[in-house]
Amino acid sequence: MIEAGDAGTERLPADLHPARILGMLDTARFGRTIILFDSAGSTNTEAAAAADAYEEGTVIIAAEQVAGRGRKGRSWFTGSGGGLAFSLIVKPRGISGSLTSLLAISAAAALEGEYPGIEVGIKWPNDLYIGPGKVAGILAETRGGSVILGMGLNVNDEPGAFPPEIADAAVSLRMAGAVARDRGEILAAIIRSFEDLYLRWEGGEPDLLRSRLESRLLWKGERVSIENGVETVSGVVEGVTAEGYLRLSTDGGPRTFHAGDLSLRREER
Ligand code: ATP
Repeated sequence: MIEAGDAGTERLPADLHPARILGMLDTARFGRTIILFDSAGSTNTEAAAAADAYEEGTVIIAAEQVAGRGRKGRSWFTGSGGGLAFSLIVKPRGISGSLTSLLAISAAAALEGEYPGIEVGIKWPNDLYIGPGKVAGILAETRGGSVILGMGLNVNDEPGAFPPEIADAAVSLRMAGAVARDRGEILAAIIRSFEDLYLRWEGGEPDLLRSRLESRLLWKGERVSIENGVETVSGVVEGVTAEGYLRLSTDGGPRTFHAGDLSLRREER
């Protein structure tokens, strides 16, 4: 594991070196400490192991992530050399709402800024899409007073890089037509974008999430079903609340859903 300021080792990918990424940041709080693991089960697991000890804004990266996790025990595949896996430590103070949404919106905006012509959609609550392909997933976990926001992002993966079970559904920015990029630059752009949104959110700016999320929301106006482990609810996606919660119009009237472990599916037409 190396931290910004440590001497690098040659076997670590140069584009993820903490000191380089730090050099691209002028942030006040996020990315001031960047820790790179040469190999990790998952960056969220590493972050959780010492979440209380890390200051807010610490970023954990893994050059190789061998057991990336999704929600509900699912796994996240991180392509060797092509994928980006990182976790942000957030210590929210008395603010409510969806941190997953904050990261989804800020990452989508950062990617669109870095890759002209690419449009990123948000599949509520935690996945980023380019067209029909999933390009990133977010996993938020709580440890004590910390929220760990982990993201897996397919950056430079080539076609054929993904295992067969996700090959049809996954896309990388490279496969979406973008040129191969330095993953450290992409991460720096996401950290800058996240800090900008987070500080405004913390400052109480009203309606920060709603329009930004709704403009990227997949399946707006379409019929979906939501499964929460207890019931399956069918309805039309209306939008989100100021906190980033999903609004559906159902046969029984309007309903709001908190992020939690909900699965959203588009219903066949
Ligand atoms: P859903 O809401 O669609 O049920 P989810 O949001 O709970 O899914 P996640 O937990 O975010 O899904 O991600 C895990 C799933 O993402 C895996 O089950 C797999 O299908 C898919 N997946 C895993 N790795 C990748 C990857 N690198 N790129 C795209 N998709 C992936």
